[in-house]
Amino acid sequence: MSELPAYWQNFIDGSFCDGGAGRLTVLDPAKGELLAEQALADEADVDRAVAAAKALSDSGAWSGLRPVERSRIVRGMGDYLLERIDEIAPILTREAGKPLWEARLEIEGAARYFEYYGNQAETMEGRSIPLGQGYFDFTTHEPYDVSAQIIPWNYPMEMTARSLSAALAVGCSVVVKTPELDPLTNRYFADAALACGLPKGALNILCGLGKDTGAALAAHPDVNQIVFTGSVPTGISIATAAAQNVVPCVLELGGKSAAIVHDDADLDAFLSDVRWGIYFNAGQVCSAMSRVIAHERIHDKLVDGIVAMAENLKVGSGLTFPRFGANMGAMISEGQCQRAAGMVSAAEREGARVVTGGRRLNRPGYFLEPTVITDVSPDMSIASDEVFGPVLSVLKFSNENEAIRIANGTPYGLVAGVFTADIDRAMRASKQLRAGQVFVNEWYAGGVETPFGGFGKSGYGREKGREALLNYVQTKNVAIKLR
Ligand code: NAD
Repeated sequence: MSELPAYWQNFIDGSFCDGGAGRLTVLDPAKGELLAEQALADEADVDRAVAAAKALSDSGAWSGLRPVERSRIVRGMGDYLLERIDEIAPILTREAGKPLWEARLEIEGAARYFEYYGNQAETMEGRSIPLGQGYFDFTTHEPYDVSAQIIPWNYPMEMTARSLSAALAVGCSVVVKTPELDPLTNRYFADAALACGLPKGALNILCGLGKDTGAALAAHPDVNQIVFTGSVPTGISIATAAAQNVVPCVLELGGKSAAIVHDDADLDAFLSDVRWGIYFNAGQVCSAMSRVIAHERIHDKLVDGIVAMAENLKVGSGLTFPRFGANMGAMISEGQCQRAAGMVSAAEREGARVVTGGRRLNRPGYFLEPTVITDVSPDMSIASDEVFGPVLSVLKFSNENEAIRIANGTPYGLVAGVFTADIDRAMRASKQLRAGQVFVNEWYAGGVETPFGGFGKSGYGREKGREALLNYVQTKNVAIKLR
């Protein structure tokens, strides 16, 4: 593998630059050792990035293009990432800890956003509203100009791509604040922008500390719209900053999502859903299947199957897992790993049973065993607090209403699933589950095309799908009195 550059810069107004706050150390989660240094932005860098984005928006050089021209550039940026996937994937693995095949999937996912939203650039049409004789009325969608996007560490490339591609497609200019723990691969968006002819200022990428740079960006008076993906407490401070400037924000926050498994479900197929649902990305997925609510008749059999699957997963450095298989990488950081292990111990103290896993591996790096906890009751902390790690809680139910009550019994509402052969039961559940997305018989069914976002404390606004385009535009109505 080629050597990683020792130092990575920020990107403002079409040029790479150092950070006013110096440098940040990026660690390799599989070793706990220094991987590279990243330029660290300060408030002055935020000011420069926002000014560059605003100047471009004011010029109309991006928003004024014919949509097909924006479409070609946005789609080109996705193609650029795919062409360099062999170069980017090992870097993503080394900064984020995920298996190499998962890093490749993430880059493909990021590229897919640019394809999808690039294709949508031409679809932002207004409408004409009849007002009777003597009037002509029409609506247009105008971009919000400067979009600020604050990104979490669990999918640094895919999360940036999700909001960036849609914002660019409709003509916004963007300032991205990358995550402190794995900011490196976001640099490839800047390379893609330069290679594809995106006007300078349309994309600015800063790494900085959340409480400083992130907060300064969210509160900046020239930011017109904010997209935040991350934890609930940070989401609340972003929403507060947005409210103070009276600008809209989209909040994509955490979850404690449940799969209800009925006694007529295909249990063999469901094991694959669990594998993806809670052990993909070492469980550090906002829409992870962190709870299974199993019918009492199949509970024990299902737990046996899940435990066997979890114990079969090999845990190790992401670089040693080039292909999809029974494997799982490191967690992102010492802090996250300790927090997850601590939550497992606390669950045991509350009376739950750790049937497999729960311990850290005795080696450098941030590795937690794939974990399954049973005898979980809805009042335990582990049943409602997000772990954000490879930890599954299994609860039991005896009737349909009880299952729905347990599933809806947390402050979150990001996604939910129901597994049954009975379509009427699935339809009833899909109506009753309080979640922005409901999966029937396949966890993660859907894609870039399907709207995604939370009920309750999981946030508001929708990303993905055509709905997301509306985050980045405001509707203007023009009413004309004819002579
Ligand atoms: P976090 O809230 O700590 O950080 C997210 C981002 O916000 C980082 O870039 C951070 O630097 C920045 N930040 C921190 N404090 C800030 C402040 N005061 N002002 C402005 N920016 C600030 O979250 P995290 O630990 O990086 O991510 C994990 C959380 O994100 C989990 O709860 C997870 O469920 C959630 N998440 C949600 C989605 C989704 O789409 N709903 C996707 C991924 C992650």
